[in-house]
Amino acid sequence: MSLSAEEKSRLLERAVAARQWAYAPYSHYAVGAALLTESGKIYDGVNVESAAYPTSMCAERVAIFKAVSEGERNFTAIAVSTDNAGMPCGACRQVMAEFGQDTLVLIGDDEGKLVREMTVRDLLPGAFTAQDIARE
Ligand SMILES: [Zn+2]
Repeated sequence: MSLSAEEKSRLLERAVAARQWAYAPYSHYAVGAALLTESGKIYDGVNVESAAYPTSMCAERVAIFKAVSEGERNFTAIAVSTDNAGMPCGACRQVMAEFGQDTLVLIGDDEGKLVREMTVRDLLPGAFTAQDIARE
């Protein structure tokens, strides 16, 4: 499913808006994400850090987990906003791939300007998926 330029920029604006709720007292790297489901809903997410660093969670996965916990599994696009249009980490790429490799990924800056766009397949070629653990 393709999105118009206007739909992309609206999703990026949601990611920018979500970013204000990022809890990043250690990295000071605030991330906002906005996930558009095929049903038309938008779930946003922010990074949530912890003093025990490895227990922190990325904005992209917060958005995906929120959506999945409400019964959504089919995603059209995810927009991500950071200061410098940073890319999703490897763990987030793996979780994105779990729910579809054709999902569009929109990378924006802190003002919602679209800097890069690609599919999950582009982000994680040769992803390990359910097919790799399929049993007879
Ligand atoms: Zn991540």
